[in-house]
Amino acid sequence: MMSNCISLDASFRIYPIRGLAGTFHLLLDAVRREAVLIDTGLFGEMPQLGRILREIRLTWPDIKAILLTHGHLDHTGNLARLKELTGASVLAHPLEQPHIDGTFPYKSPSRLCGVMEAVGRTLFRYQTVSIDQPLVPDAELPYWGGLRVIHLPGHTGGHCGFYSKRFNLLFSGDLFASYGFSTHLPPFFLNSCPEKMEASLHRVKALAPHYIIPNHYSGLDGEIHHKRFDCLMESHLRLRHRQPL
Ligand SMILES: [Zn+2]
Ligand SMILES: [Zn+2]
Repeated sequence: MMSNCISLDASFRIYPIRGLAGTFHLLLDAVRREAVLIDTGLFGEMPQLGRILREIRLTWPDIKAILLTHGHLDHTGNLARLKELTGASVLAHPLEQPHIDGTFPYKSPSRLCGVMEAVGRTLFRYQTVSIDQPLVPDAELPYWGGLRVIHLPGHTGGHCGFYSKRFNLLFSGDLFASYGFSTHLPPFFLNSCPEKMEASLHRVKALAPHYIIPNHYSGLDGEIHHKRFDCLMESHLRLRHRQPL
């Protein structure tokens, strides 16, 4: 059975890799015969990724970079193994290094997030990795026809999205989760700087990408996720409006 993917034109494709705690993405540039990863998942994804690579006749070193939206375990679980297999550079915002290392000083109410991260790291025998190339907000990365770094802090301080101008598409990380039954912001205890969330939401609203692809979703359909994001923003703003000053 062929792997599920989205073809944006003859040469650019997105392959979702679904695991225990969400989905990460392999972006294929078929003309250059290379790929990049956005995030690396947690558990159960590696055989799927290996199968996809065989299907598209790429090898591990054809993955040229590993872009991280942020350093939570469900995005970095396979990072050490993938870096070893591919030799690719790891790109993340410098504020994410303590999250990647599992040393971020979570304060209440996000202490629970710290406990979950610590337990997960022990359970999955997590190995940390150093960032090779610190992401700079608004920088254009030379992958997949060009990806712009969109700094979207709130969930974490260095949380970033990646925007393809070519396809008017934003990979939005954990800015929100998009499911048919519920589209929501990350639960409050998972956000280490919630005071920055509002501006990040408005930033995406202003960017107005045609397609949005988060990491936690049902169905790989960037138009539907964009519609759900708009609905989420509407109800979010309505609630804000109602709140007494
Ligand atoms: Zn997260
Ligand atoms: Zn996540």
